Amino acid sequence: MITNAYVKKVFEDFCKKNPNEPEYTQACQEILESLELAVEKHPSIEKNHLLERFLEPERFVQFRVTWLDDNNQIQVNRGYRVQYSSAIGPYKGGLRFHPSVNASIIKFLGLEHSLKNSLTTLPMGRGKGGSDFDPKGNSDTEIMKFCQSFMTELYRHIGPDTDVPAGDIGVGGREVGFLFGQYKRIRDEYTGVLTGKGLEFGGSLARTEATGYGLCYFTNAALKTLKNDSFAGKTVVVSGSGNVAIYATQKAQQLGGKVVTVSDSNGWIYDPNGIDVAVLKQLKEVERARISEYAKRVPGSVYTETKAGNPTVWTTKCDIALPCATQNELKIDDAKALVANGVTAVCEGANMPCTLEAAHYLIDNGVIYGPGKAANAGGVATSGLEMCQNSMRLSWSFDEVDSKLKDIMENIYENIYTTQKKYDLKSNDLLTGANIAGFEKIANAMKAQGLV
Ligand code: NDP
Repeated sequence: MITNAYVKKVFEDFCKKNPNEPEYTQACQEILESLELAVEKHPSIEKNHLLERFLEPERFVQFRVTWLDDNNQIQVNRGYRVQYSSAIGPYKGGLRFHPSVNASIIKFLGLEHSLKNSLTTLPMGRGKGGSDFDPKGNSDTEIMKFCQSFMTELYRHIGPDTDVPAGDIGVGGREVGFLFGQYKRIRDEYTGVLTGKGLEFGGSLARTEATGYGLCYFTNAALKTLKNDSFAGKTVVVSGSGNVAIYATQKAQQLGGKVVTVSDSNGWIYDPNGIDVAVLKQLKEVERARISEYAKRVPGSVYTETKAGNPTVWTTKCDIALPCATQNELKIDDAKALVANGVTAVCEGANMPCTLEAAHYLIDNGVIYGPGKAANAGGVATSGLEMCQNSMRLSWSFDEVDSKLKDIMENIYENIYTTQKKYDLKSNDLLTGANIAGFEKIANAMKAQGLV
């Protein structure tokens, strides 16, 4: 609950300006609740209207995307890009292609990204974009035509020193390749304008693995400091079966944990022997099949459809939970089930997968809660490393990138831990620490640059 008068007024004004944008409002409330402490400690935040400036995007673009499907029928989608802040570097943030995408989702992701990019310590500003286009069910040719049309508008707003998009839900290597090809064709230049590119044309080794691996490095650092513990011997539940989920599963198992669940929007798998990552990758990365197929291929595993009354990933007994699917997938009842089953840590691979109520419940019950803006920052951090390699016209080895990623994730945790101590926060409340640490850097940069 927000109590400080200035912060309250900022939130009321925000709600008036952004009606009917529930995800955006939720992200704003969560951040403002944490920043009250910083506002009280630093009167210059109010004096310089830094909260209002932080919460107002520099630019928000919405555009029409028309393309021809395989039956020569005209299709119309809506595209977006929010360029939130360039205070600490060029705008940076992924593109999401999913039917649920709207202005609220894009702006909430942009806002979350601000703090995330700041926490990485790399010089990256904040942005996000996407479309309500659904790659699922479309042919490769249709996806290429959509991406080309999308980029035919987006190219005006981006550039290697201006705004560098990447992938997110529905945008993987295939889509980034089509987008990059069209940008190059229109601009007639070969630059690192997108990250998550193929290795043949400027991509970085370990970018595919980065978000999932980084999530596990962050979780391990928190477990080590707060519980003198690790993944070794732990039962882990993961939700989702996309890019983040696959590589979180792989790294958690490499670190000695046993991941027993993965899911998609139709249902989930329980595998008491530990998820077979090779099968998961074959199904999701090669065949683009539904997760139900896993149970047909792996003896002993069970598929449960997502349906009211059915058990869920979150009712599975575990020590560590890694939500890696989508926003608001873990609600208060799920948090209660996890706590009742003795969970120690919940760290977010997805962006805002826990509702605010669920996050508070986990923190109040002593669970280590790693918010997505810190725990999943490995993706954007490695995108930063890809930009660096593109600028220097060289490529680092997998191990070099992976070791830099590990250092960055451990430093993010360290930075939050130091902030927690400075503000006398509960040791398991990484949310408040992450929000304050991320905000302070941006606020200082905004103040130093004058009224821009
Ligand atoms: P993908 O598109 O690769 O995978 C998303 C996965 O989540 C799919 O398995 C999808 O299933 C599942 N999913 C979507 N909606 C639901 C739902 N309502 N219930 C259960 N499962 C669902 O996306 P990513 O793995 O790239 O992204 C996942 C999350 O991680 C997002 O929140 C994203 O913003 C965040 N993230 C991603 C980063 C990256 O580098 N890729 C970086 C930082 C954060 P289905 O196939 O049925 O839709």
